[in-house]
Amino acid sequence: MSDQPALLLRDVGRTYKQGDDALEILCGADLSIWAGQSVAMIAPSGAGKSTLLHVAGLLEKPDAGDVLIAGRATAGMDDAARTALRRTEIGFVYQFHHLLPEFSARENVMLPQMIRGLTKAEAGKRAGELLDFLGLAKRHGHRPSELSGGEQQRVAIARAVANGPRVLLADEPTGNLDPKTADHVFDTLTQLVRVTGLAALVATHNMDLAARMDRRVTLRDGKVVEVG
Ligand code: ADP
Repeated sequence: MSDQPALLLRDVGRTYKQGDDALEILCGADLSIWAGQSVAMIAPSGAGKSTLLHVAGLLEKPDAGDVLIAGRATAGMDDAARTALRRTEIGFVYQFHHLLPEFSARENVMLPQMIRGLTKAEAGKRAGELLDFLGLAKRHGHRPSELSGGEQQRVAIARAVANGPRVLLADEPTGNLDPKTADHVFDTLTQLVRVTGLAALVATHNMDLAARMDRRVTLRDGKVVEVG
């Protein structure tokens, strides 16, 4: 077990300029998530959930503070180093699956691995194992349009963890699904977190699903606050 959180936000600030106004979205935000922990983020629309996920996922640079991935500070890194770290250590799942329509489920999960430099055979083997684990053993060759909404989202989860990241960030991953399907996809996601020791931060409006995660946080005045 590592002695560092998989994801650590330290005193993070993020301000957007709106004409002459400065819109302070994050201000002194602190958050630690340890390997194997799942954290739900519940906050009203506009509170800054997506901003926090983008900053945590090294897609956006904070204006203040730092984001540490397994103890590695990122504020001083150049764009190339941040991108390299993001590719290997961070997985994203969005509300809409964003799978490539002309590729099969298996190929969609292979692509990020091949971008990282794995051979087709290696990437295909891991993609198959992940899809099997996520209950898609009979769907390897299906294209996104041949899959249900829940299946598409499970493929998106497999793709997000294809490179074995430490951190999984999800923005309303079940927001577009009916309640029963959302429940199923969510179960799969939390199971994956436990089995692989991922650290997961999931923005959701679904209180039932949030209740099943290890911790719940919200955003208040730009800070992350634990809500039990
Ligand atoms: P949430 O995900 O909680 O709905 P967001 O992080 O998307 O909230 O947005 C928080 C606030 O920051 C919103 O008021 C939004 O309008 C503003 N915002 C987000 N991105 C930008 C941007 N690139 N430029 C200016 N304002 C932005």
